[in-house]
Amino acid sequence: RAKSEGRDTYRFYEHAMGQEARSRRIMEHELRHAVSRKEFRLVYQPQKRLDTGEVVGYEALLRWKHPERGNVSPAIFVPVAEESGAIVPIGEWVLEDACRTAASWAPHLTIAVNVSAVQLHSPNFTQTVHRILLETGLSPRRLEIEITETALVRDMHRALTTLRQLKSLGVRVAMDDFGTGYSSLSNLRAFPFDKIKIDGSFIRQVDTNEQSATIVKAVLGIGRGLGLPVLAEGVETSGEASFLSRELCQIGQGYYLGRPSSIEDIEGDKEDSSANAA
Ligand code: C2E
Ligand code: MG
Ligand code: MG
Ligand code: MG
Repeated sequence: RAKSEGRDTYRFYEHAMGQEARSRRIMEHELRHAVSRKEFRLVYQPQKRLDTGEVVGYEALLRWKHPERGNVSPAIFVPVAEESGAIVPIGEWVLEDACRTAASWAPHLTIAVNVSAVQLHSPNFTQTVHRILLETGLSPRRLEIEITETALVRDMHRALTTLRQLKSLGVRVAMDDFGTGYSSLSNLRAFPFDKIKIDGSFIRQVDTNEQSATIVKAVLGIGRGLGLPVLAEGVETSGEASFLSRELCQIGQGYYLGRPSSIEDIEGDKEDSSANAA
């Protein structure tokens, strides 16, 4: 009896796994056409100085509206697009759209764009960035490329070469999700980062959780020592924001400071605030 149960269980899993592999293949296929079908758009989340509340720039975040399934989270589709390689053309679309949008903003505002490992290591990545900057007219200083540590560990030597090329264009590079990857500290030393983004998991309840507070203070100390500004991700409460500001964290990003929103909403806000000022 146990044997047949085992067999049934196996069949069940085989069936379920078959389903999963199938839906993954379907998604891979759909992702290959999603750019030309105009199913992607970008939303922008403000990055603010914690002392004055001034917006210094925005992070572009990708959104996919599937014709039947509706909005699919990038946490689900980005890994699928990375595995199939579709992230390369998708990421190029992201860079182009984000740079074009940012070129129309006030010149002090920066634009942060997430770049996957596969994209960073794809042939001619630096040339692609260079071309997009020329075509959109965005000053390289205003573009900040956000990279997670998984992008670096794949091929350290190649990653370093690419980061140096990007830096020689004048583009800035931020380490995303700091603290959650592998050997963060050695990566900070090995790569020419311009900014550290502390992962949101350390910011959650940083004002009441002593362990988080200790870790965040230590990262701020590292930033100060290395001369790198630190951005706190996932700031959700006023308590977290005041703690960070007290500890001299320069920049914050999170629902408390501003949700990711469409470009229409951001530009509407800008008109509102100029109307208020007038
Ligand atoms: P990330 O780059 O670390 O982006 C921050 C994520 O945290 C975003 O999720 C953002 O919406 C979310 N977030 C912002 N403030 C808060 C907050 O206060 N609380 C909480 N709980 N979450 C907050 P999103 O947009 O779902 O993106 C998830 C991840 O997908 C990103 O993490 C990034 O790794 C990836 N991603 C997004 N857009 C792109 C893209 O254009 N290209 C690539 N390669 N990856 C992207
Ligand atoms: Mg990011
Ligand atoms: Mg992050
Ligand atoms: Mg992330």
